[in-house]
Amino acid sequence: MEKVQFQAESKRLLEMMINSIYSQREVFLRELISNSSDAIDKIYYKALTDDSLTFNQEDYYIKVVPDKESRTLKIIDTGIGMTKEELENNLGIIAKSGSLAFKKENELRDGHDIIGQFGVGFYAAFMVADVVTVVSKALNSEQAYKWESEGADGYIIVPADKESVGTEITLKLKENTEDESYDEYLEEYRLKQIIKKYSDFIRYPIKMDVTSSRPKEGTEGDYEQYTEEETINSMVPIWRKNKNELTDEDYSSFYSEKHYGFDKPLKHIHISVDGTIRYNAILFIPEKTPFDFYSKEYEKGLELYSNGVLIMNKCADLLPDYFSFVKGLVDSEDLSLNISREMLQHDRQLKLIAKNITKKIKSELQSLLKNERDKYEKFFEAFGRQLKYGVYSDFGANKDTLQDLLLFYSSKEKKLVTLDEYVSRMPEDQKYIYYASGESVERIDKLPQAELVTEKGYELLYFTDEIDEFAIRMLMTYKEKEFKSVSSGDLGLDPEEETSDNSEQDENKELFVAMKELLEGKVKDVRASKRLKSHPVCLSSDGEITIEMEKILQSMPD
Ligand code: ADP
Ligand code: MG
Repeated sequence: MEKVQFQAESKRLLEMMINSIYSQREVFLRELISNSSDAIDKIYYKALTDDSLTFNQEDYYIKVVPDKESRTLKIIDTGIGMTKEELENNLGIIAKSGSLAFKKENELRDGHDIIGQFGVGFYAAFMVADVVTVVSKALNSEQAYKWESEGADGYIIVPADKESVGTEITLKLKENTEDESYDEYLEEYRLKQIIKKYSDFIRYPIKMDVTSSRPKEGTEGDYEQYTEEETINSMVPIWRKNKNELTDEDYSSFYSEKHYGFDKPLKHIHISVDGTIRYNAILFIPEKTPFDFYSKEYEKGLELYSNGVLIMNKCADLLPDYFSFVKGLVDSEDLSLNISREMLQHDRQLKLIAKNITKKIKSELQSLLKNERDKYEKFFEAFGRQLKYGVYSDFGANKDTLQDLLLFYSSKEKKLVTLDEYVSRMPEDQKYIYYASGESVERIDKLPQAELVTEKGYELLYFTDEIDEFAIRMLMTYKEKEFKSVSSGDLGLDPEEETSDNSEQDENKELFVAMKELLEGKVKDVRASKRLKSHPVCLSSDGEITIEMEKILQSMPD
């Protein structure tokens, strides 16, 4: 029998595949299991449309069988199987997807979740195996066939014996080398771990015979080993469930299970979108700031699933930086399984999903602010600074999204207020939104510059975070009101009240000149002012940069 050569481009692709598409070897199992799941979906679909077939749920499963002696790992499924031609076409030509063709032929639309459509996943098997053997019997065919390949140099197809419809894939694991060991893929606990990690939500049972020990009956302290078939995956993902069926408890235990944090979620957001893009997502706003949140080590991102199969642990493209605190996952059937990081960045679906999610997070935060103020303030304490960075970064591109989510401590009632609250209660004669920067509220309260403003009954915002003033500068205005620092030269008050008349300035001219000389270039000018009430003197700035900003800028490393 003749060995068929892979097509030339397939050969190159295969090499590339094995070496670069997947960053982790263990995903080979995910790929094979999702192919099996696809194959079961297909037979299920046939049963739906063909009266002569019935679909008994319990007849459909995937089984993983490690065997240390022969150093093989089998993945068995009771799916639709492959004919000789299909084995040739689907496994012989890389990047040809039988699943995609099936979808097209049957005009599959909503409700059918066939994962594959890119035609490279199967080859991931060669990351761990020297020889891959596929024995398959297709639905409605008499004869089974065996496909076998040792990698890049081709494959054979011969008739084989197989009673039941379905596919059995045998991986002859590579021999260990000095640097690499493949033994882990024969260990039950490790296989369980991988299945749990990547394929927990595959909708058919993934079974494995698991050996454990138990106390031996009639003895004391003696144990015996026994083997039992277990279903490893939990099958129904929480994000596919109906919101109404789930309790807060369900969400927070999921949060812990997923190790999103040691705290409890402050809020969960469960999204199911079924429009031009289809996806489910569960997002969480943590209660506490993760210890590394404001450090370089912190990595933002959501878990990304393609139709129940994990494809990425932290997909950064799904979240804007200003919402980097959000945890959770997105599952979409419109995404490809074996898409690489680079390809993902350009994926249109993913961009749409990201945009959608950002909008949703914003509106959820807004409703939290409106309806559960206490909770929102807690949130803001933990992550508010990130929102302010968001306003400041990207040249203010996100200010419209974020400005209504900001809170500042205010002199009225001494509590946190939104800009909207500030502006809506401004007296008619007040032209500006006034703020004062300083280390703490107490410090700011002692600022002589603040007096004139508060004395007039105007509200004052306390900027105690270094980023505050920078963020506000980026906003420039809020509802057409400009921001004004109390330390700026011109407070924009009634001119009568603010600057002194010239006589006072003239009378003290010599004193002012002497003071300026004494301060040796540390001040630009010394002027008489009416803005002071109980303090004899204060500093103010003339230009764009206020005194506080100048301090921060000077303290920053070059
Ligand atoms: P994809 O899943 O993206 O289509 P793969 O390389 O993973 O690409 O698989 C190629 C094709 O081989 C699949 O589309 C499917 O037609 C066929 N195939 C692979 N595994 C199985 C299986 N267990 N049962 C039936 N068909 C399979
Ligand atoms: Mg596949």
